Amino acid sequence: MYNYGMKLRGFSIGCQPKGVIEWKDTNKAETGFYSIITYDRELTPEEIEAYDLMNLNAEMKICSECGREMIEGYCIENGLEYYCSDECLHKNISEEEYLELYDDGNGDSYYTEWSEWQWNY
Ligand SMILES: [Zn+2]
Repeated sequence: MYNYGMKLRGFSIGCQPKGVIEWKDTNKAETGFYSIITYDRELTPEEIEAYDLMNLNAEMKICSECGREMIEGYCIENGLEYYCSDECLHKNISEEEYLELYDDGNGDSYYTEWSEWQWNY
């Protein structure tokens, strides 16, 4: 099962890619989505983009240093390592090294947020 959040409108005819097997309206203020829709296939990035969906199936990332689950944090060299905080990052990589990897946003290392969705709606 693959879940997607509808960011701009709720579930309605023609408002999402075909093949929905289940849907649920949610409180936009709490979840950030009007509806959560479920498919038995993975949608393509083009479908996600075209219908303003958010992919809710992203794997929870784990900090390589302390083992904590992360919603946001540092992604190093395209997922080779993940760090949840400056503290964990700097136990392994100095500020200078990180800035070199980050390369003003051109590198494969950056700080990011993987999902704003809280699963307790
Ligand atoms: Zn950590």
